[in-house]
Amino acid sequence: MPFGLLKYGLNSEYPGKHHFTPATELKRHYDVVIIGAGGHGTAIAYNLAKYHGITNVAVLEKSYLGGGNTARNTAVIRSNYLTEEGVNFYRESVKLFNNLSNEFNYNVMMESRGQLTLAHSDAAIRSFRWRAEVNQHMGVRSELIDRQTIAEMVPNLNMSEDSRYPIMAGLWHADGATARHDAVAWGYAKGACDRGVELHQLTEVEDIEITQGRVTAVKTNRGRVECGAVVQAVAGASSVVAKKAGIALPIHCYPLQAMVTQPYKPILTPHISSPHVHVYVHQTSRGEFVIGGGSDPYPLYHTRATLDQRETLAAASMELFPFLAQARMLRQWAGTTDMTPDYSPIMGLSPVENYYLDAGWGTWGFKATPICGVTMAELVATKKVPDLIKPFELERFYRYDQINEAGATAASH
Ligand SMILES: Cc1cc2nc3c(=O)[nH]c(=O)nc-3n(C[C@H](O)[C@H](O)[C@H](O)COP(=O)(O)OP(=O)(O)OC[C@H]3O[C@@H](n4cnc5c(N)ncnc54)[C@H](O)[C@@H]3O)c2cc1C
Repeated sequence: MPFGLLKYGLNSEYPGKHHFTPATELKRHYDVVIIGAGGHGTAIAYNLAKYHGITNVAVLEKSYLGGGNTARNTAVIRSNYLTEEGVNFYRESVKLFNNLSNEFNYNVMMESRGQLTLAHSDAAIRSFRWRAEVNQHMGVRSELIDRQTIAEMVPNLNMSEDSRYPIMAGLWHADGATARHDAVAWGYAKGACDRGVELHQLTEVEDIEITQGRVTAVKTNRGRVECGAVVQAVAGASSVVAKKAGIALPIHCYPLQAMVTQPYKPILTPHISSPHVHVYVHQTSRGEFVIGGGSDPYPLYHTRATLDQRETLAAASMELFPFLAQARMLRQWAGTTDMTPDYSPIMGLSPVENYYLDAGWGTWGFKATPICGVTMAELVATKKVPDLIKPFELERFYRYDQINEAGATAASH
């Protein structure tokens, strides 16, 4: 060990610099309380502080920073959705992601690798053509590509015509990317705390006080806190927390699992997904193959990893990449995802005054982190719903005005 490092570690005059606010007592009152210190909660706090000058803000986290779905996702960033509303929204998020390291002066390891979704049927080709048209119209790089191009782009992919579901074509999305997920939460949290926001870990919101239709305080395991406004950003617990404010959300929670292999030398650049075989694979900059698929088939609040899902993901990934039969598994994990009926988020106002919703992030919310931060902070600061998130309001379920992204999220997240 270098001598300088040892000296630093042992010397009491060199206290380690805290990235985030050290735990202090909770204040009696905050202008804004944000429930949940994942990427979304911290991004909202950061934007409130940096762009709206609102710093009397507490982010309350029952566990540890980024320990929810933010640190469990497979980091896929893309904007090639199907609906105009979806493409518009995620396109702006991808743009913000591209500049995030500069914004933080902190490396979030953004890698523009491209994303390829495989078509194994005529029906899939038809729907991909539709998606490509919508995407191009909205300024997103997305095109249908043929077998020959796919074979050249991904030489290790099983292009055999004798496979169970031969690959017929693909939707190529050059804007597809990945970033280091926990670094995103750390970057936002550091930026928020540097500007005066308080981050309180191990602080669970147990109840929410509403007086005459308006939120006035939250009760936590560390005491009661009065507040001018509350934002809930608790993916995986959205219905549970909203219920404390008397709000019913059309959300059911399902576990979502993923796994990684041991590291290999770099051979796969794009992110590959197959809605038909129901699996996706990409290789991290460390060399591990990340493998994921669909949610568990039953609603459950749990983060256990199951043998059943491991077998399913292993079989499906080997169908696309036969060499993975030799790979050793390093880790498997799960998160709890809050699924809406139309596979789009619920953002904006709620029936309770000054209580704002950032929910329904299912299996697709990591990529939305930066734009949620911007739009939700604007909503809290100005009380006006930004146009970009207007289509995602809770009210849409009462007007039968849903934004159906089921096809564009399947096994791609
Ligand atoms: C295996 C897996 C793979 C995924 N892959 C992708 C992907 O590739 N791309 C993509 O875009 N999305 C993906 N997702 C979805 C994505 O991870 C989530 O949508 C996103 O992380 C949501 O972020 P968040 O900040 O809203 O929630 P979280 O990061 O879950 O943060 C919410 C926080 O709220 C806290 N909390 C809950 N209840 C309380 C309470 N009562 N009081 C205080 N704190 C509370 C939790 O402890 C948690 O830390 C994936 C999810 C999983 C599980």
